[in-house]
Amino acid sequence: MNKPLIVQKFGGTSVGSIERIQSVAKQVIQAKLAGNRLVVVVSAMSGETNRLVELAKQIDSVPNARELDVLLSTGEQVSMALLAMALSKLGHHSVSLTGQQAQIQTNNQHNHATISEINTQVIQRYLDDEIIVIVAGFQGVNALGDITTLGRGGSDTTAVTLAAALLADECQIYTDVAGVYTADPRVVVNAKCLDKIDFTTMEVMSKKGAKVLHLPCVTHAGKNDVPLRVLSSFESGSGTLVKGWNPTPGMSGIALKKHLLAISIPAHQKQRIDQQIKLCGIEIDCQITDDADYTLIAQPDAIHRVVAMLSEVATEKSPVGLVTVVGDISPPFTSQSQQLLNLAEISVLHFCEDKHSFTFVIASEAIDKAANVLHDNYIISNDTVSREEKLAYLG
Ligand code: ADP
Ligand code: ASP
Ligand code: MG
Repeated sequence: MNKPLIVQKFGGTSVGSIERIQSVAKQVIQAKLAGNRLVVVVSAMSGETNRLVELAKQIDSVPNARELDVLLSTGEQVSMALLAMALSKLGHHSVSLTGQQAQIQTNNQHNHATISEINTQVIQRYLDDEIIVIVAGFQGVNALGDITTLGRGGSDTTAVTLAAALLADECQIYTDVAGVYTADPRVVVNAKCLDKIDFTTMEVMSKKGAKVLHLPCVTHAGKNDVPLRVLSSFESGSGTLVKGWNPTPGMSGIALKKHLLAISIPAHQKQRIDQQIKLCGIEIDCQITDDADYTLIAQPDAIHRVVAMLSEVATEKSPVGLVTVVGDISPPFTSQSQQLLNLAEISVLHFCEDKHSFTFVIASEAIDKAANVLHDNYIISNDTVSREEKLAYLG
């Protein structure tokens, strides 16, 4: 009988230095000696992808998308080769593979590609020979043979897609925090690490800004029943298991997005702008329509592209952020939560409701405070009230 197969993914901070890569090598060896077959997906060393983006922007503020992918894919190749060297030095046989060598096929959407198919034959052959397979995260190849990348944070998606294609026993996402928390633990002081979270809630958390898991990774794992676990590469612990689609009752967490820009344009331009945004594949984080204005909120690069499309001189761009409460929202929440934020002297610029979430648009400088206020009121207290219900759910 085959040994269990585990796909492990190590993010940028986890492979951020030579010492970290040597420590990851030891962790990988430990899992191998415990009797597993291993596929290891690596990200670029921390800061490397940003450094490469900055280099490209020194040449062109909107770099050629194909060439940007050629450039960005190099970050992951550095990590995979160094990890293979570290494993070899410790006496273990491994092989590093680029996205192309691993036969990760994507569509043609440079910088935001989607994996369409993985031919696992090459990987399988190495596994059969008891060789540890290291795969560069975040990259693939399109039908023309050109390198593509999967969007920022995309190595998580490489790992889950490989796990699904190889029918792995578990996909482990190793990162720099202990697991999935009720909110970003670097922002929200009282955030708690969860033992378990369902795919529905995790999808909304990722969509609304919890970058601990890349959104397509969550969706793909959920659809393909990939047993998914998020855990720390810095400390031991069982992390967070992402499992099941039934949402946890009540409000589950807070997600946030910082450093966005908002522009308001005359409402009569909405239809034309929406069509162009769709055509150009520009990602917008929040859209609000009222009688006079149509407000668009997105990453600065996306807003600059929208501004370039406008026929009239653009209105002012204001720095904003989004704080989202994830979970079931009951009617009194809308007014209560705004009173709560007003009491904390945080003004809500806009709000919008979605399935399983409620988002506040807030001036950039007040984001952290708003996240803490909402978390401590609705997540921690909600947790106390429905503790029994949650325990029953967790089994
Ligand atoms: P990696 O480089 O390992 O892929 P990321 O930086 O992409 O790591 O994701 C981990 C980071 O996600 C954490 O350091 C944390 O600041 C942030 N984060 C945001 N929301 C959450 C959350 N709900 N739970 C855990 N971490 C979160
Ligand atoms: N290196 C890429 C990034 O920084 C992909 C990843 O880390 O998942 O976004
Ligand atoms: Mg990440």
